[in-house]
Amino acid sequence: MKLLLITPKWPDTSLWGQIYFRFPYLALTTLASLTDEDWDISIIDENVKAVDFSNLPDLAAISIMTPLANRGYKIADALRKKGVKVILGGIHPTMMKDEAIAHADAVCIGEAEQVWHQALRDFKNSGLKPFYHSDNFCSPDRLSIPRRELLKRKSYFFINTIQTTRGCPFDCEFCSVTSFYGRTYRVRPVKDVIDEMSHMEGGFVFFVDDNIVGRASYAKELFRALIPLNIKWFSQASLSIVKDRELLNLAQKSGCRGLFIGFESLSQEALKAMGKSVNQVKEYKNAIRTLHDHGIGIQGSFIFGTDFDDQTIFSDVLRFIEKTHIEAALFSVLTPFPGTRIQEHMLKENRIITTDWEKYDMNHVVFKPKKMTPGQLQNGFNWAYKRLYGYRSIILRLFPFKRSGLFFGIQNYGFRQAWKKTLAGE
Ligand code: SF4
Repeated sequence: MKLLLITPKWPDTSLWGQIYFRFPYLALTTLASLTDEDWDISIIDENVKAVDFSNLPDLAAISIMTPLANRGYKIADALRKKGVKVILGGIHPTMMKDEAIAHADAVCIGEAEQVWHQALRDFKNSGLKPFYHSDNFCSPDRLSIPRRELLKRKSYFFINTIQTTRGCPFDCEFCSVTSFYGRTYRVRPVKDVIDEMSHMEGGFVFFVDDNIVGRASYAKELFRALIPLNIKWFSQASLSIVKDRELLNLAQKSGCRGLFIGFESLSQEALKAMGKSVNQVKEYKNAIRTLHDHGIGIQGSFIFGTDFDDQTIFSDVLRFIEKTHIEAALFSVLTPFPGTRIQEHMLKENRIITTDWEKYDMNHVVFKPKKMTPGQLQNGFNWAYKRLYGYRSIILRLFPFKRSGLFFGIQNYGFRQAWKKTLAGE
């Protein structure tokens, strides 16, 4: 029996559709690792290879995030027309199961570990059910090792992505992590992580956790175990890392060279409203300096369009990033993703302009902001990105290339090229 696992392509109108230094999502390789050996499995990441509709599998499973939903549904419809059974899963079908089932034979809701075997058994017995709901969160013990060997290696900048924790102890209004994983923060046994890493190739490692320091005691144990491996790693972390010097020192010693940090806003009121009070704006500069002093470069995330943002926000954020020498930044237009509290609140206030999921890529305005028009927010966002990845800003931020200069140099250049192509494609 042939099983085809698919990630749909990002829209060309999105920055993410244009980035050339790709790394693979773990969803498909994990699903492959949960599948019995009698299946002949292939993986298609449409961002690197097109789906071949003339070479049909017996069963296809498509993993869908919201901005990829339109394309995912299109692939599902085309495969079903040719008689292939299709299962949809991932965060978007989990939040929008009634919409998703219109394009599928079955929808997996929640984490695959709990339901995938049953869905495959039912398929083999010609008894696929419309919904497979995982009632519990899976145990982080003995997670199977993702089947990275099924990936087209040459198509990726690197493939060393690995997860050590699931979930996040915080619950920000705009984020779907907590609505997907519940208020759980589950950690894998450190020995399992180290064992999985022994199967990976050398070079950079990207821990794709939503917050690698969500439990300081676990993070310390993990970082201690990483020290002898002599690797360089990147991950995502909350600013709480800066408050625990032992944790920060261990991160540095274990090879942390960069962290994705969600600053989100320079307004304490906005942070309070979004439920991100772990961030204190008055502590930002000091926190950035401390991370830099530990040799850790920063990719900062900033959101535009909160109820407290007016048109001054774009230049304020840009100035802050340049002054503090944040190596790279990711700007996002506030986006009311399905299942988030911000979506609930915007629906109540009738502020959502469109549910064209392709536009839910955090590059497009899909709601009515309070202190700007949608057009002003869009133009300001575009302007800020253009300035951020202009050569002047790149040099100002990176010079004198002390912290992972090569990595952040490539990252900045890649974002610059991708943003130019994104605007050209609009
Ligand atoms: S801290 Fe980050 S991952 Fe956690 S809920 Fe907030 S935005 Fe999501």
